[in-house]
Amino acid sequence: LSGKLNGVFDRLRRRGALGENDVAEALREVRIALLEADVALPVVKDLVAKVRERAVGQEVLRAVAPAQQVVKIVHDCLVEALGGSVDAEGEPKAAPGLDLNAPAPVPILMVGLQGSGKTTTSGKIALRLREKQKKKVLLASLDVHRPAAQLQLETLARQTGVTSLPIVPGQTPLEIAARAMETARRELYDVVVLDTAGRLAIDEALMAEVAEVKRFANPHETLLVVDAMTGQDAVVTARAFQEKVGVTGIVMTRIDGDARGGAALSMRSVTGAPIKLLGAGEKLDALEDFHPDRIAGRILGMGDIVSLVERAAETIDREDAEKLAAKMAKGQFDLDDYAKQLKQIGKMGSLSGILGMLPGVGKLKAQIEDANLDNTILKRHTAIIASMTPKERRSPDIIKASRKRRIAAGSGATVQEVNRLLKQFDDMSAMMKRMTKLGQKGLMRGGLG
Ligand code: GDP
Ligand code: MG
Repeated sequence: LSGKLNGVFDRLRRRGALGENDVAEALREVRIALLEADVALPVVKDLVAKVRERAVGQEVLRAVAPAQQVVKIVHDCLVEALGGSVDAEGEPKAAPGLDLNAPAPVPILMVGLQGSGKTTTSGKIALRLREKQKKKVLLASLDVHRPAAQLQLETLARQTGVTSLPIVPGQTPLEIAARAMETARRELYDVVVLDTAGRLAIDEALMAEVAEVKRFANPHETLLVVDAMTGQDAVVTARAFQEKVGVTGIVMTRIDGDARGGAALSMRSVTGAPIKLLGAGEKLDALEDFHPDRIAGRILGMGDIVSLVERAAETIDREDAEKLAAKMAKGQFDLDDYAKQLKQIGKMGSLSGILGMLPGVGKLKAQIEDANLDNTILKRHTAIIASMTPKERRSPDIIKASRKRRIAAGSGATVQEVNRLLKQFDDMSAMMKRMTKLGQKGLMRGGLG
């Protein structure tokens, strides 16, 4: 993907002059790059339009190194869209973090879907405020839906050396919030972090509960916690929380994974709320300030401007992909390859991206895209394959009922899910066999690529 960009920019660089067509061509690739980094389509359109407006024209045409200038324009537009700014020396600055500028105790409300990282982030924020800003922090869990949630926060509080509100069974979220604020006022806390319950998906009950807590606690910051790995879904989540609850900032978690971070741009643009912090791991000190320039680089698939013109990443991806394509062509694709494949998705773009390297696969490619390998399925499948023995991965045919039960138990999946995976793998293998035939004809005509 950044490989594709490299190609275009390389060509532009060699040519030395940049016309309208060149900009258009570069922007086609930029568009794909952004989409593959999980930036939402309307946001991509806006950004591309902005870049075009800036890129086409004298400024670029007269430049010494036009291609680099386009790269820089894309990068700068991204940084701006992410809320970036520079200091007096022109160096990029981190985005402003939490705003605690209010009478103590300052309430911070944590909202988001279940599993997004609210409770963990509450602990991280508490630790940071205690250590770096010497604040007295009270943690309170309003999650009365999951029995272990309040205990989880209590454990985190102990690990971070901050206090958590004593658990009183049977209280409603509002009662807990009231008790937290009272306790904080009485015992002179600086900050109260209110950790709410999430649901697996957005629903009215969740929104109503969170909105009610918000009206009641009147938090100074309402932080929406979103998992960067949720990709395009992040936009839906962000929009819903912004409309129904109202947020003052966003925390993007699991930035330690291999999500490219395009969700940050989409969320920022649909909510107008700034990204304030990043979660970069399960450990309690894995909380980072948000640096728009770094995320911009990550979205474009480059560490910095300079590395965009380096080909290293492209070469690795290409070599892997070519090896895999060769295996497919020989009909040797097994579950180990499938697992590797799952890991690569996200780096390369998609399975169809790799299939695209085989000649003559146009229609089949579309069929595979229809198979709809979304993120959750990828994660589940990776876990299920990890529970298989090497022999099972090489010869999936031996996986009968008892093995299925063992694999399911080992990966926390159901037997049905194991069946679905095997079915999908079968379909894929069958498709590949057909493709191989087509492919060999194609190879005789023109070869890979
Ligand atoms: P909640 O349901 O929103 O409260 O989510 P939790 O805070 O319980 O987090 C769910 C899981 O995600 C836990 O296993 C956390 O350790 C993990 N987690 C949270 N934040 C991060 C992060 O930034 N990176 C990684 N890798 N894991 C995280
Ligand atoms: Mg929680």
